Amino acid sequence: MDRAFLKYRAMWSGSAECGMSDADVDRYVEKLYETGINTLIVHLKGGDGTVYWKSDILPQCTHEGYDVFDLPAALLSACRKRGMRLEAWLIDYFEGKNGPAHREHPEWVMLDPDGKTTAEEMLRGKPWGPLWMCAARRPGYTDHWLLPLIREFAQKYDFDAIHHDYVRYPGDAAPDRYCFCDYCLENLPKWAGYRTEAYSDDPFFHEFYDRGYIEAHWEQSPRVLPANWESLPRSFKANFLLEGGFFQGGRNDLDYFFYLYRREAITDFCRLAKEAVNEVRPDMDVSAAVFKNPVHSGRFIGQDWRTFEGYVDGIIPMNYRDHYPGSFEVYLDLLKETIETQRQLTKNFKYYWPGAAINFLYFEEERPLHALAKALEDEDCDSAIAAFDAISDRIRSVSTSACQAIDALRKNPAIVSEARKEFATFRENIPGDYWPAEKLDRLLSVIGDTQVEGFSLFCVGHLDQYSQWTALRNAIPRD
Ligand SMILES: [Zn+2]
Repeated sequence: MDRAFLKYRAMWSGSAECGMSDADVDRYVEKLYETGINTLIVHLKGGDGTVYWKSDILPQCTHEGYDVFDLPAALLSACRKRGMRLEAWLIDYFEGKNGPAHREHPEWVMLDPDGKTTAEEMLRGKPWGPLWMCAARRPGYTDHWLLPLIREFAQKYDFDAIHHDYVRYPGDAAPDRYCFCDYCLENLPKWAGYRTEAYSDDPFFHEFYDRGYIEAHWEQSPRVLPANWESLPRSFKANFLLEGGFFQGGRNDLDYFFYLYRREAITDFCRLAKEAVNEVRPDMDVSAAVFKNPVHSGRFIGQDWRTFEGYVDGIIPMNYRDHYPGSFEVYLDLLKETIETQRQLTKNFKYYWPGAAINFLYFEEERPLHALAKALEDEDCDSAIAAFDAISDRIRSVSTSACQAIDALRKNPAIVSEARKEFATFRENIPGDYWPAEKLDRLLSVIGDTQVEGFSLFCVGHLDQYSQWTALRNAIPRD
């Protein structure tokens, strides 16, 4: 168990929880500092499109109240006096239900093959809701909204870094559906060279098909688009761009170019963001919250972060447990393997801190509690008792009355409403000791053993929610 290497001990932090005065922010930062945290990554551009500073260039983005209270300045002052590192967490392409950019430029949103937005996508049986903005469109959200905001922030505040989040496509919910906006339908074929400018109608069939594979004749760049392209509706064009083939009669390989196009849109944004930041503040770093495997995320969300090299200084992968299968033990084994791989992949980056989420550590304690509540709600006593038995040791250690309620239920299923009441109370105010302290400790032990130089935990709010302040203080090394 070697944690001495963990020089950067970071946490992602919300904005509202920092408070609304210099004194609040100072108290907030002090509590984290005193716990052993020395780096904060604070949410300053939200998933609703608003920013937590007074924007002069796009004042309509400023979140209510933050035109008066200067949160970034208060954070800077509180962190600097304690020698803490400070990064600005900015949500890039996710714009919430109706953010300011979308209100002014509805044409900048991502569209699917049917011309619908991500808001209309069904997720786990319900309409999803949030909008995503097209990363490729120029002029568009990237160059006329996001980059100017990033440049403005860097100019105003001497943070150590800006931190990209949602620097990707929405493929964790809807892979292969975006983006088929008007711009991308025009631009992807142009970018991929699917026809020439000079002879746009010429199919340029090869003079000789004299090699064994039709794909061997690719170098003369045949016209890829079908002859009826201009008259096709959006959904047919989208289907061709995703499912079609480079050669009529060849393999259906156009998805390769579709994924490459998305990857390039995201990487190009990183390039431009780094340029914008360093134009106004040459020493400022840029970091990014990324998915754990860049080969996979390149295909599914356009985020092959290996290509961020030179444009992003710090790679902070979200190695959250919900991105892994299996038990807590399996998670720790796979996490170790992930970190070894990521270390190799990030050798040319300035820094690499594996990230982990606190809340997902407690599936074993949390899921049976939900199941228990649901079973009691449904008056399904057998399921309620089974769910209770899965966590009975933990509940027994913190609540006698909850255990008595279940014991009574075992004898008399008719009193289910009393057990329901008891567990509603229990869940409203779960005793801190219900959550095991050793999980966070074991997590940091696995990270420390890999001898990386830092970690980042998601997020400060979870320390309250799962009563982990003391566990964290005991688990991290001291300077
Ligand atoms: Zn688009």
